[in-house]
Amino acid sequence: MATVTDPSIEFLQREQRLFIGGDWVSTGTSFPTLNPATGEVLAQVPVAGQTEVDAAVEAAEGAFRTWRETAPTKRASLLWKLADLVDEHLEELAVIEVLDNGKPIGEARAVDIALTAELLRYYAGWPTKLAGSLYPNSIGDMLTIGRREPVGVVAAITPWNFPLLEVAYKLGPALAVGCTLVVKPSELAPLSTLRFAQLVEEAGFPPGVVNVLIGGPEIGAALVQHPGVRKIAFTGQTATGKQILRSSADDLKPVNLELGGKSPNIVFADADFDKALAGAFGGIFFNQGQACVAGSRLFAEEPIAERLVDKLVEKARGIRLGHGLAPTTDMGPLISARHRERVLNFIDGARNDGAEVVAGGGIAAVDDLEGGFFLQPTVIANVSNTMHVAQEEIFGPVLSVITWSDPDELEHLANEVPYGLAAGIWSSDIAKAIRLAERLEVGTVWINTYGMFDVSVPFGGRKQSGFGRELGPEALDPYLVSKSIWVDLEPTRQQSGQSIGRS
Ligand code: NAD
Repeated sequence: MATVTDPSIEFLQREQRLFIGGDWVSTGTSFPTLNPATGEVLAQVPVAGQTEVDAAVEAAEGAFRTWRETAPTKRASLLWKLADLVDEHLEELAVIEVLDNGKPIGEARAVDIALTAELLRYYAGWPTKLAGSLYPNSIGDMLTIGRREPVGVVAAITPWNFPLLEVAYKLGPALAVGCTLVVKPSELAPLSTLRFAQLVEEAGFPPGVVNVLIGGPEIGAALVQHPGVRKIAFTGQTATGKQILRSSADDLKPVNLELGGKSPNIVFADADFDKALAGAFGGIFFNQGQACVAGSRLFAEEPIAERLVDKLVEKARGIRLGHGLAPTTDMGPLISARHRERVLNFIDGARNDGAEVVAGGGIAAVDDLEGGFFLQPTVIANVSNTMHVAQEEIFGPVLSVITWSDPDELEHLANEVPYGLAAGIWSSDIAKAIRLAERLEVGTVWINTYGMFDVSVPFGGRKQSGFGRELGPEALDPYLVSKSIWVDLEPTRQQSGQSIGRS
């Protein structure tokens, strides 16, 4: 097993600093970031204060003009170079992600880091393809040009569950269109973003185009309120999203909100059983259940429900918990002791509400990792859709199984949550599955698959899962504003009196 002294992660032995205006900045205060598999301190990270927030926004404002006027081919090549550097450092970045977040190394490599590089390449293709338009006005000899311009300085505020990837979701499209950024990753897993900032520097982006601050909610809030920030791109909890929306109202900053979920994963009796079983299992246990799209409400049709639950229990009990760097590990720890406590409270609540915990349900003991924040993979049966465990996002390896028999009621139950992020449908009747998919109030539906992502396919939520889209071409829109420019081509035309308009 690699340890923190592994040469591939020499970065962790260095003094960590903020990245502001192309400089590496120390601050007077720091806090520890923990390895959740051991509970031990992994590194001390500097904490930004208002001075650093002001400096980072100022640096991003200063760099904005240069960056927006940088030739599209140059912006493209820098993004492409950054993608190459991410690939080159894939192993190191994956190890950092494992140590800071706890996830298994295979997932960190294949999802977090590989997708980050792919995403940067996808957006590297866009600067040279963003076109404006000419509007067909009916005035005559008047040119009306439609421009799409970068909105300005973006504050990117991100969560800990896919630490670097969530930054890349925002940074890729924002840089492609010509915005500059102040990035604030989660204080619970900030290290991959700091290493990534070094790669930004190495790639040769002009100073100030990307700035990285570390800190907690107060630094996020300071960015939201900063007058120099023109756009907030946020991923995190629904409750935080609501706070951000309220504070952004003071100066009407546009906001993108990618928030929590409580996704239904619906299995019809006519589904390919093994495929649905694997989809239900992966849908909840991937990333320790700490995924916004976790299929945390499993709707099992009556005839197959018992068999499905039995098999899920068997598989859940077979999950090997361990250090994310150990090759035998299927699942790592939760992000923190506090978060594990929160998840355990949900499980206790389900018991009190009359549901049955049929697998897991408690703290897991893992050999040689007594200080880690491990939790047993948990399956809860006999859940009704109104219970807290079915209505609130748990964000852990906890599956609530709801048995159903009436298809008309199913649609209602699936939609009957505050969230609207994603859903899964398993059936051999594709027409039936598509009809149901059309009626679900969510941003993404997977039919006979679950949790698929691609850089070209937009992703985002509805209802209290937020608004705005990441990935694909739609992810460019939030970072662009349109401008109409009128040019009179008729030299003798006089504006009549004080009128505005067509006369
Ligand atoms: P969180 O809301 O606690 O924190 C997210 C970020 O916001 C952190 O950087 C945090 O420091 C900052 N923050 C906290 N309070 C703030 C405030 N008042 N003002 C400004 N910034 C503030 O979320 P988390 O626990 O880090 O992440 C887990 C959540 O993220 C889950 O709800 C999950 O569903 C959601 N998530 C959603 C998506 C999606 O695409 N919809 C993807 C990943 C995670």
